[in-house]
Amino acid sequence: MALIQCSVCNKRISDKSITCASCGAPVNSKDAEATERAERNLRWKRNKRIQNYSFLTLLTFLIGAFLFWAHRDEIHSWSYYIGVFLLSTGFIGYSVLRIYKMLKK
Ligand SMILES: [Zn+2]
Repeated sequence: MALIQCSVCNKRISDKSITCASCGAPVNSKDAEATERAERNLRWKRNKRIQNYSFLTLLTFLIGAFLFWAHRDEIHSWSYYIGVFLLSTGFIGYSVLRIYKMLKK
């Protein structure tokens, strides 16, 4: 038994297996349709994951914005600092995800 690399997801799999355990792509087969299906499935999963992270960063940003706005008159309070932290974390996280998504297309 040897370990080979899956042509779709690049994970290490056994050359004796029929399909990749990670993405379901056929191993040692010229079934182009099944390979394409596995690729499409993998792309869909990745997009879904990015979408979930984007939602989380957006939520972080909004909570931060609310705290920032609600405590704008008390700029040395913890709530204000937490607001600023969440606001910037959410913004940076969202921007990084957008750039990542653009580059992966
Ligand atoms: Zn795979």
